[in-house]
Amino acid sequence: MYIMYRSDNKISIASLPVWERAKEKRVLLSMVMDLTARCNNDCVHCYINRPAHDRQALEKELTLDEIKAITAQAVDLGVLWILLSGGEPLLRPDFSEIYTHVKTRGVFVSVFTNASLVTDEHIRLFKKYPPREIEVSVYGTTPEIHKSVVRKNTFESTMTGINRLLSAGLPVTLKSTIMQANFSDFDDIANFCRSKTSRLFRFDPCLQLRADRDPHRNKSILSQRLTPEQIAALDKKDPQRYKALEQGCKNLDNSIEQDADTLFKCQAGINTCAIGWDGKYQLCPSLVNRNCTLDLKTHTLAQAWNHFSPEILKRTSVRSHYTETCGTCTLHDICAWCPAHADLETGQLDGCIPYFCKVAKERQRAWKKFDYVPYLKRT
Ligand code: SF4
Ligand code: SF4
Repeated sequence: MYIMYRSDNKISIASLPVWERAKEKRVLLSMVMDLTARCNNDCVHCYINRPAHDRQALEKELTLDEIKAITAQAVDLGVLWILLSGGEPLLRPDFSEIYTHVKTRGVFVSVFTNASLVTDEHIRLFKKYPPREIEVSVYGTTPEIHKSVVRKNTFESTMTGINRLLSAGLPVTLKSTIMQANFSDFDDIANFCRSKTSRLFRFDPCLQLRADRDPHRNKSILSQRLTPEQIAALDKKDPQRYKALEQGCKNLDNSIEQDADTLFKCQAGINTCAIGWDGKYQLCPSLVNRNCTLDLKTHTLAQAWNHFSPEILKRTSVRSHYTETCGTCTLHDICAWCPAHADLETGQLDGCIPYFCKVAKERQRAWKKFDYVPYLKRT
């Protein structure tokens, strides 16, 4: 185990030894809380967003009191780090109260925001109670490319918001999601983000499907996905990502999975969980299958964490299309396949995702250090 220092010489929370220790005991350390599904943008690739004034979404959103109660239960269970996300969390008029409440419980707090709604009040709040991190996505460096992704005229307000946060000396991480609409702008996006802050720039080139399974929106997401070749080319352009993937490839031969029928091979439900915008307990933000969620309006977080999660984690698949492919695959570290994504794509936790499979194999091929074929467990 080693401690990872970031480019600003701070220790990354994710690399603290406490995570390794906690894995053995299944302790809740971090939690994602989606404060809303609504957003003032309408990003073409977004897996969650509803319109800013969507009445149905507003009616189902957790109230301030419910958020306070869940936070208290999470702190009782030992949580150290809470990420406030959405949708766009700053859309909530009570965001400041929520943030202050969570922050003053003594946990690290991170915020994901599109930055276009940042006000002087938010700046004062973040300066008074500094967050661990504020993460902002940059989708384009020109108004045209930004709009081709977010489908709203928020370029100016986004740039103003980013500059306000940075000028206030707040810990801002800039990141991106790359798709067909902004692929041509990747170099400029990366340069822009790196010029604004020394914190690690990272991007996601693998789009996931909608949590609400909306077929029309899913069609748009599918049309925005990069080809495996485009993704492998982007990986190589990013020096830090290159190093991480290179290491991942080096580890491939050592990472042959033993439990062919096990579905959950990640940290979801082991040290982390997520609270959906409508109060559903989830093992992670992407796992929305109704058989894998529990309503926190009628159950406690302790019931969800201590009794519900362990049952979900026991799920297995004995179907040969799983046990002979993803169940025993050595490419897990460089593949976006997981039961949550499989469910979103196929309606089954053990479903195959040919696109993710092609991306992983293209990544492996692009590094040319390993044979193209041996992604199945050798017998
Ligand atoms: S800004 Fe974020 S939450 Fe809003 S629509 Fe875009 S991706 Fe979704
Ligand atoms: S590379 Fe293919 S077989 Fe391996 S985990 Fe990914 S989707 Fe499954």
